[in-house]
This record gives sequence, C-alpha cells and structure tokens, in this order.
Amino acid sequence: MITEKSVVELSRMLENNDVSAREICEAYLDRIDAFDEKIHAYITVDREDVLRQAKESDQRRGAKKQLSPFDGIPVALKDNMCTSGILTTCASAILNNFIPPYNATAYEKLLEKGFVLLGKTNLDEFAMGSTTETSYFGATRNPHDLERVPGGSSGGSAAAVAAKMAPVALGSDTGGSIRQPASFCGVVGIKPTYGRVSRYGLVAFASSLDQIGTFAGSVKDAGDVLGVISGKDTRDATSLERDVDFKSDTIDGNVKGMVIGVPDEYFENIDPEIRDNVMATIKELESRGAKTERISLKYTEYAVPIYYLIATAEASSNLARYDGVRYGNSSPNVKRLKELYFKTREQGFGKEVKRRIILGTFSLSSGYYDAYYLKALKGRTLIIEDFKRVFEKVDAIVTPVTISTAFKIGEKVDDPLSLYMSDILTISANLAAIPGISVPSGKDSKGLPIGIQVMGNHFQEKTILNVAQAIENICGHIDPGL
Ligand code: GLN
Repeated sequence: MITEKSVVELSRMLENNDVSAREICEAYLDRIDAFDEKIHAYITVDREDVLRQAKESDQRRGAKKQLSPFDGIPVALKDNMCTSGILTTCASAILNNFIPPYNATAYEKLLEKGFVLLGKTNLDEFAMGSTTETSYFGATRNPHDLERVPGGSSGGSAAAVAAKMAPVALGSDTGGSIRQPASFCGVVGIKPTYGRVSRYGLVAFASSLDQIGTFAGSVKDAGDVLGVISGKDTRDATSLERDVDFKSDTIDGNVKGMVIGVPDEYFENIDPEIRDNVMATIKELESRGAKTERISLKYTEYAVPIYYLIATAEASSNLARYDGVRYGNSSPNVKRLKELYFKTREQGFGKEVKRRIILGTFSLSSGYYDAYYLKALKGRTLIIEDFKRVFEKVDAIVTPVTISTAFKIGEKVDDPLSLYMSDILTISANLAAIPGISVPSGKDSKGLPIGIQVMGNHFQEKTILNVAQAIENICGHIDPGL
C-alpha cells in the first residue's frame, strides 16, 4: 500500500516510474477522507489543489524535468507557517480568515524540490500548549487512542503522520512542540539546532526559541526532509549556513565507540514504565558498542520557570501586532482606535494566549523586569553552560521525552501549571539552542507509544540521527493499527 511506504521508498518508486505523483497524492487524500473526520489532524485540505500540484509534478517528470528526487511527494504543514494564497490560521480566531501574501522559506524550499502541499495541520492556538486543545478549531485526537491527546502544539502534524495521512510533515518547536507530540503519537520528530532552518514566515511565538523541524515515520525520512528545508536565509538573520551532512545514505545507526550521556535529573519524577523502557533501550545501545555515562544537568529543575518567563515575554511582544488593523480579524462597530484594539484582542485570542500575554507583559514591566525576565535570562545562561560542560565529554545525551504517555482529552485543560511542568524534559534543548529528536521506543502497558529523546551539541544533527537510527533498529516502528 502506498501510504505504508517511506519517503525514501516513494521517491525511488517515482524515479523508476512505478508510481505517479497523482497515485501517491490520491492515496493520501483517500486516507484523509477515511480517517480525518475522527482524528481532525487537518485544518485545511484542498483536494483540487493537491491534484493540480500532482499533475504538474507528473508532467515535469514526464518531460524529465523533475525538480528533485522528491518531486511529487506530499507533505503537510503546521498551520503557523505562511502559505501564499492559502489560509494560515495559527488555530486562532484572530487569524481564522488570514491568507498570507507570501510563503515561509521552509515551505518555499519544499516547493523548489517539487513537494506537494497536502494540507495545513491543527495546533494549539499560536503553538501555545501541549495538547491541541487550545485550538480554535477543536482538538486533534491521538490515532493510537481517540480519547487521548496527540500532544502539542504540533499535534496535527504528528497525528497526520502517525495515521498515515501524510508521509512527512513540518512542525515548529519552541519548547518541545515537535518532540512531545512525536512521542505521544509514536513517530519520529526532530527539532534542529536553532538557526539551521529559517524562521521567515513562521508565525512568531518566542523568537529566540522557535525552530521549524520535521515529522516522519522513520529517522531517515525526518533527516532527509530536514536537509531540504535547512540553510541560511537572508530574511532571517538568525539562520546559518551549515553542511547538510546527514543525508539518509550517510545514516547507518552505528554507535560503536560513541559516548552517550544519561542525565540523572531526566529520570526523576517520571512514569516508572517510561523510565524502565528508556533504560532498557539504553542497555541495547550499550550492547551495540555505545559507552554510556551517568551525567548531571543540574539546572534542569529551573528549566520550566525560565522557559515560561522567556517564552511568554517574547510572546507578549510578538503578539502585539494583532491589533485589528494589520492582520486578520477586526472587531466591527467600534468608535475609537483603543476600542478596536481592546475588542479585537478580547474576541480574537483564546484563554491560554491571553494568559501568556498577561504573564509576559508582567515580567517585562518596570519594577518586575529584574526580578523575573532578567533573572530568567541569567538562568538560561546557566543551562547553556550545563550542556557545554557535558558535551566536552559526551557525543549525545539520551533521555525520555515526556513524563507520561498520552493522557485523556480534557484531563489537564483546567490545570495549566501541571501542563507547564510536563514540559520539563524538552524545553532545555530550546533554551540551549541544541538539536533534539524523539524516536519511538515501544509502548507502555496501555498500548501507548513511548518516545526517547536524543540531544546533541550545536549542529550535530548527524550524531543524533545516527543514535536515533540505532534506536529505530532496536525498537522498530509503532503502528496505530487504523
Ligand atoms: N508546551 C510548550 C508551551 O506550551 C511548548 C510549545 C511549543 O513548543 N510551541 O509553550
């Protein structure tokens, strides 16, 4: 079946003329028709437009003018990335009719290689959350158990890939939003080094933390598509040109002689089933020649308050642009400019987004800045130094991704603090700007996927993909059995 194939396999089949882009895209559209009513991974799918793109791809290939080996491969995009002429909502009421006039660079790069946009996926409003429950369009469901959350904020992209409603998808990760849903849905998700991928056209949440990455069914696919979207972009001054030295034919899962750090702090206060599972997989890595070393990342316990001060401070500034004048919706029947601002924002933002704007504005305000925002910045430096010290002696760090497996929809909606606390294992990588990947490591006793995280030093994507490949060789893939 087409939807069972990896991107690497599909591209080989396309090259051999064993399948057409149209056949591939139709197979995915049929799958979306069959399952997305229940799962709700997508906000927008334009069937006609998908088929038009597929037709163009087949014509290019027919004329031997394919743009790349990926020409004709479908991809899904989180709905916080700008797509020219196509609705981009950020799952917010304030942008529910926003059609951008330009493309995000990451998407542009996919188009240059001939990828076909399948649709835009659901997320927590403005990527703020861990469940997709804050989406204006309602939650996405976990393909492994429809009563449970898929994780978030890129829950739609993770669920689409898990349910085989897309072979690959893009997400964004500010504090775990790729790795945590990948873990909950049993797929691979990679957040690259900050700067590897341009953020141009990614709707900003917290600019010093936001990074675009990929979801796929396999480590190689996730790495290959990450390679396509990587690179310096003059429109994002924080992006950097670095070799894409991690193409799939160079990833062999060989961990012999590699030194893997296992931080004590990442195994405290987590579900014992996850701890045991991850430890067992680490043992397997040892039997394949990796050396493991217990390490300490001693500032881990401060990561949550540091992240939630910095992320909300940046968000309060980034979201000031939604004023009813420049973007998206405006509140009608208002008499004064101030009233326009107030009403538009009151009606346009959901509860969680408002909570974060208020928090962020507070910590930046005079009199509180030193005690909160500045202190958080200092704490961030300590976390950066923690990793620097550790990477002097280890090649990669292996940890769980989450403290629990996927929980029930509604279980934590009224408890923001417990949701924030549950980000403890993913947010440090964003604070330190280092790459991290989540790979499936089997299931718990409820049959729910467990993820392992591999983190590496700046621009060491190749190292973490190799360790991830070794884990994939050990643990295999997880199928939701739809
Ligand atoms: N769960 C985190 C938050 O709510 C992460 C979000 C993200 O990475 N976009 O902020």
